[in-house]
Amino acid sequence: MNQEIPYKIYLEESELPTAWYNVRADMKKKPAPLLNPATFQPMTAEELGTVFCEELVKQELDDTTAYIEIPREIRDFYKMYRPSPLVRAYCLEEKLQTPAKIYYKFEGNNTSGSHKLNSAIAQAYYAKKQGLKGVTTETGAGQWGTALSMACAYLGLDCKVYIVKCSYEQKPFRREVMRTYGAAVTPSPSDTTEIGRKILKEHPGTTGSLGCAISEAVEVATHTEGYRYVLGSVLNQVLLHQSVIGLETKTAMDKYGIQPDIIIGCAGGGSNLGGLISPFMGEMLRGEKKYQFIAVEPASCPSLTRGKYAYDYCDTGMVTPLQKMYTLGSGFIPSANHAGGLRYHGMSAVLSELYDQGLMEARAVEQTSVFEAAEYFARVEGILPAPESSHAIKVAIDEAKKCKETGEEKTILFGLTGTGYFDMVAYEKYNNGEMTDYIPTDEDLKAGFDGLPKVPDNR
Ligand SMILES: *Cc1c(COP(=O)(O)O)cnc(C)c1O
Repeated sequence: MNQEIPYKIYLEESELPTAWYNVRADMKKKPAPLLNPATFQPMTAEELGTVFCEELVKQELDDTTAYIEIPREIRDFYKMYRPSPLVRAYCLEEKLQTPAKIYYKFEGNNTSGSHKLNSAIAQAYYAKKQGLKGVTTETGAGQWGTALSMACAYLGLDCKVYIVKCSYEQKPFRREVMRTYGAAVTPSPSDTTEIGRKILKEHPGTTGSLGCAISEAVEVATHTEGYRYVLGSVLNQVLLHQSVIGLETKTAMDKYGIQPDIIIGCAGGGSNLGGLISPFMGEMLRGEKKYQFIAVEPASCPSLTRGKYAYDYCDTGMVTPLQKMYTLGSGFIPSANHAGGLRYHGMSAVLSELYDQGLMEARAVEQTSVFEAAEYFARVEGILPAPESSHAIKVAIDEAKKCKETGEEKTILFGLTGTGYFDMVAYEKYNNGEMTDYIPTDEDLKAGFDGLPKVPDNR
């Protein structure tokens, strides 16, 4: 064992990044612009400003500024739970008997239990700075809603969360954490919005969907004076804020002269992976260094590995602008037996473009193998991982096993995005041997593709 490198590399507070890194600045071919769904013309800042905060619209549209300063107020909030540790997984290496060196960046050390707080505080800050009264959003699994309610409580901003009804009922404690932080939590569909009432009338007894919750949150934001809508993943601005993960990782690794060969992350909408790889991808785009990047997605919701690179709606309700991305179609709904998070039908435009250019790989993994890796990891490294994060663990272990076969001493880095305390129903299913795998057939996927909007670019 090489004990020169500590189990945990903690940076000093003074080493917190002072600016986020915008990887789009170093991309020769930029991600495609957001389109207005009515005109198919690029969305203007003015149009986006009716839904999103001004400063965030600027960040969304900025493809050229490499470094964007992190305001002092956000850095102060970051200091409550950052820098986050970079962990050398000595125990996992030992257990696997691999010559590979494994590192993970752990983002679960805050009450929301995930990396989502990094963007929640930024988005809440810009809303507050604009003089808004509050923000609205949707949440599926609940991590984003929790993170946003924490950020809003800190800044004294009102927070309205639309949570998918089945989540609201299945995860009562998630709801209670949000309410403890002062958020108004409404199960969706609800009778508080026009679209909610319409859906309830057409589908009485429905347990809701993420797409429906987005539509409700957007309606409330655009119809209430002093409110805007915020989103926890997918958007360029969210990847920008999450670059704090990669920047800290790079500083920590540089300090000890560590150079990763493989960088792995789970990918739902792409924000943690985009944030982790950004500074490393920047080096590769500038021709300075080479890395292997791997996005890991669930086999039941395989947007990169089996999706189409096309313009699509960001939500099921078709109220959002069109984004060019790897997508399964906004009407795609993953099977009900899918427990492991990462259910989004599309992928960040930045990651989609990098993947399309062959700069990043993607793998799809089945959920029982993900929970097997999660349990293995929990028993060896002590941390109870979120099911989402465990997708990355699964592929990191696979790569470490390959090194054992070939004798290669590769350095593997992965993002451990959060903890799994609110996912015990899924763990229970796995422990009881009741968890099953589901892989959509080509026929299942075709239905989603058939629903893609008829944008000139898609034909
Ligand atoms: C939301 C979430 C993810 C997936 O979101 P990305 O935007 O793809 O990063 C992964 N892990 C955890 C713990 C999450 O809460």
